[in-house]
Amino acid sequence: MFLAALKLINFRNYDRQELTFHPRLNIFTGLNAQGKTNLLEAVYCLAVSRSFRTNQESELLRFGSDFFYLEGNFQKKKECYQVGIGYRPPRRLQIKLNGKTLKRAEYLHRHPVVVFSPDDLLLVKEGPSIRRRFLDTEGSRLKPLYYRRLRDYYRALQQRNRILKEYRGSRSFDYSLLEPWDQALVKFGSTVMEERIKFLGALESRARSHFATLTAESESLSLRYLPTIKFNGDFELLESAFREQLTAGHSAELRRGTTLIGPHLDDFAVMINGCDVRKYGSQGQQRTVVLALKMGEVDLFNSAGDEQAILLLDDIFSEFDEERSNHLLQFLSCREGQSFLTTASPSWKHSQNCSGQSKIYTVYRGKIKID
Ligand code: ATP
Ligand code: MG
Repeated sequence: MFLAALKLINFRNYDRQELTFHPRLNIFTGLNAQGKTNLLEAVYCLAVSRSFRTNQESELLRFGSDFFYLEGNFQKKKECYQVGIGYRPPRRLQIKLNGKTLKRAEYLHRHPVVVFSPDDLLLVKEGPSIRRRFLDTEGSRLKPLYYRRLRDYYRALQQRNRILKEYRGSRSFDYSLLEPWDQALVKFGSTVMEERIKFLGALESRARSHFATLTAESESLSLRYLPTIKFNGDFELLESAFREQLTAGHSAELRRGTTLIGPHLDDFAVMINGCDVRKYGSQGQQRTVVLALKMGEVDLFNSAGDEQAILLLDDIFSEFDEERSNHLLQFLSCREGQSFLTTASPSWKHSQNCSGQSKIYTVYRGKIKID
C-alpha cells in the first residue's frame, strides 16, 4: 500500500499544498521549524484519522483558520481510493472514502502505519508505564482480543481497587467481597500477560535482526518481559500462579488500599549485549533500539495483513553516525513498503544507497518543493 498524492489545506503551518509521493522512499529536508514534522503528521492523520502528537484536533488548524482539509489517494494491491478528512469546529472530524462518509471506528484500522518520532525515545528513557502503553496499544492494533481482555482487566481492577480503598486498614474485612474481582483479574490478567509476552517475543525476533543490521552486527538486542506475577513460563499454569499470589497478598493489599500485583504493574527490559539500555545506553544506542523496535513492528504488520505498512520516521538521523544512517537508508530504499522521513541534517547526502528509489523534497516556511 502507498500514498500516491496528498493535498493539505490550512493544516498546521501549511495554507495550501499539493504533493505526489514516491511509492518507496520520500525524504523531507529543511531547517528547523519549517513544517517537516507537520507534513508527517498530515500523512498520519490522513491514514488513521488522528494525530500522533495531540488529541486536540483544534491544534491542527492553521492559526487563524476555521477549518482544515486533507485529501489523499491510496493505492493498494487490489484497489485505489481517495480519502478526504475535514475538520470545522464545532463539528466533528469528517471522513470520506471515495465521497462516502465513514465513522472514525470504521476507518481507524484501515491502514497499517508505524511512526517513529523523537517522543518515542521515552520508551527506553522513562518508567514502565510508557512501555506498558506501547505493548498495549501496538499489541491490540494487531489483535482485537488483546484490546478486549485489556479493557475487561482494567474494569475489574478499578472495581477491586475501589473496594480496597474503601475498606483500607479495616480489621474485620470480609474477603469474599473481593472474590468476583479476583476471579476476573486472574482470568483477564492472565490473557493480557500471555498476549503481551507473545507480542514481545514476536517483536524481539524481528527487532533483533534490524538492530544487528543497523549496528553492523556489532551489538545484540534483547527484550524481556518483567511480570509482577512469578511463573515458570508455562501459560497453562499462569492462572493458578496468579490466583495463589493474589490471595497471598490480600492482607498487604488491604493495608495499602490497592492491588499490588498484576499486568498493570509489569514492565519489560530492553537490553544491548545484556545491559539495560535505560541505564547504560548511549543516546545513539537508545535511538537505534527504538528504531529497531519500530522496524520490527512494521514486519509484524506486514505479516499480519497483505499490505505493507507505511513507515514515518521523524528527525531520524540526529545522533546517528554515518554508518548507521547508511544502513537505515539502505533498509528504507530496499523495503517494499512506503517510507517518509524527515531530517534537518544534510548528512544523509553522503549516502549513495537510495538513488533512484526515492524522492527528495525541501521544506521551507510551510511550502514544499521537489529537489
Ligand atoms: P524541526 O526540524 O525543528 O523538528 P520541523 O520542520 O519539523 O522542525 P514543525 O514541527 O513541522 O517543524 O513545525 C513548524 C512550524 O509550524 C513551527 O514554527 C510552528 O510554530 C508551526 N505551527 C505549529 N502548529 C501550527 C498551527 N496550528 N498553525 C500554524 N503554524 C503552526
Ligand atoms: Mg520536526
